[in-house]
Amino acid sequence: MADHLSPERRSWNMARIRNKDTKPEIILRSHLHRMGFRFRKNVTGLPGSPDIVLPRFKTVFFVNGCFWHRHSGCAKTTTPATNTDYWLPKFVGTVKRDRKANEMLRKDGWSVIVVWECQLQGATDMVAGKIARHLSKKTPLNMIRKRD
Ligand SMILES: [Zn+2]
Repeated sequence: MADHLSPERRSWNMARIRNKDTKPEIILRSHLHRMGFRFRKNVTGLPGSPDIVLPRFKTVFFVNGCFWHRHSGCAKTTTPATNTDYWLPKFVGTVKRDRKANEMLRKDGWSVIVVWECQLQGATDMVAGKIARHLSKKTPLNMIRKRD
């Protein structure tokens, strides 16, 4: 299919559909599900509306798009060369909001795990392993329900 969208326009479109059920989020959810975790999704009652919440582990996940949430050092975190007056305040606002939500959650005793979109492409088992290790440190392993 011919790609007639400018990179800026495409990024904007992607950013706008950021919310519910984006693909990286589905990947992460299916991993957690396979690992036997129970979770809730898109919890609007918590700061920043975390994408995935594991109440039992008092842990929340944010699945962040690299471009929009400014994954530092990531190749996807480009800055459009045009309309910088428009883009920069948006980026700053998003990063600020993310930080604020993170702070509020931690203050309330939540563990906050940010998973970047790029981390879920390719090496997904690695990410799943990381998550499992993180959670197993918080709670004895026998608390994690294993699937047969
Ligand atoms: Zn990234």
